[in-house]
Amino acid sequence: MDRKEFLIKTALCGGALAAATSPMKLFGGPSSAAKPKSPELKLSFQEGIAPGDSLEAKLDFMESLGIKGLEPGGGNLSSRVSELTSKLQGRDIKISAICAGFSGFLLSEDASVRKQCMDSMTEILEAAGALGARGVILVPAFNGQKPALPHTRETRNFLVEELHELGEIAAKFNTTVILEPLNRNEAHYLRQVADAASLCRDSKSSGIACMGDFWHMTAEETSDYGAFFSAGPYLKHVHIASRGNRIMPGEDGEVDNYIEGFRALKALNYDGYVSFECGTRGDRAETVTAAVNLLRKQWSEAKI
Ligand code: MG
Repeated sequence: MDRKEFLIKTALCGGALAAATSPMKLFGGPSSAAKPKSPELKLSFQEGIAPGDSLEAKLDFMESLGIKGLEPGGGNLSSRVSELTSKLQGRDIKISAICAGFSGFLLSEDASVRKQCMDSMTEILEAAGALGARGVILVPAFNGQKPALPHTRETRNFLVEELHELGEIAAKFNTTVILEPLNRNEAHYLRQVADAASLCRDSKSSGIACMGDFWHMTAEETSDYGAFFSAGPYLKHVHIASRGNRIMPGEDGEVDNYIEGFRALKALNYDGYVSFECGTRGDRAETVTAAVNLLRKQWSEAKI
């Protein structure tokens, strides 16, 4: 059944198609994760995190702190491939992931808006593959994006079909689409890491992955450990921020504890990046440095 036909039948038959997709498991779950070996903490910054007036100055600062990844936005990424490649040449910093930058959205009622999303994601995925990024971060629908398909089983089945299509495109470019669960204030549709992981499993494409963002997880998850562990091999990226105000880790004091989450990453032998996505209320050079030191300390304190 193609997507157009699916939508027509869904409108006519309501729940009749609810059982259309069987939850066949294509990949191993967390139990199949490799034996933990004490993975290193690989930190990454979005472009706005490091102080500096130019990308070169930011990269110099990052290298001085031992930061291993850069997470650029996806807007106009194809026009930046040579710039980013040349500026990273000779440095010990790689492109970690690409943060969104697409237009349209996958759960729009309007087929032309869904196509905008597919087309713009395809362009960003090609650039992401050329840059060696682990994936391009995607949110199926933000709260403000309307009109959206209703939050039903039929819509989930439809989303799985769309993700399969997009995942195969990503795989062709040797990268992935990384589903990001957000908190309820930003996106009620996909809020928990385990839900994103089940979409990965059901999409039946090696090009679909997921991530966890400690900021959103603070609001939505009951256990950092449980959330990350549930994603198992589908977990390809992590975002981090302080847990009270989304500023630098440590700026909110004692609530900025990531040890339980880090324990899960170690147990999974997670080999991806933990990438900063946050603001600051202090002097950036100082708060960023303090945050990096705090995270390294907590990583060493996280026991499997
Ligand atoms: Mg995030």
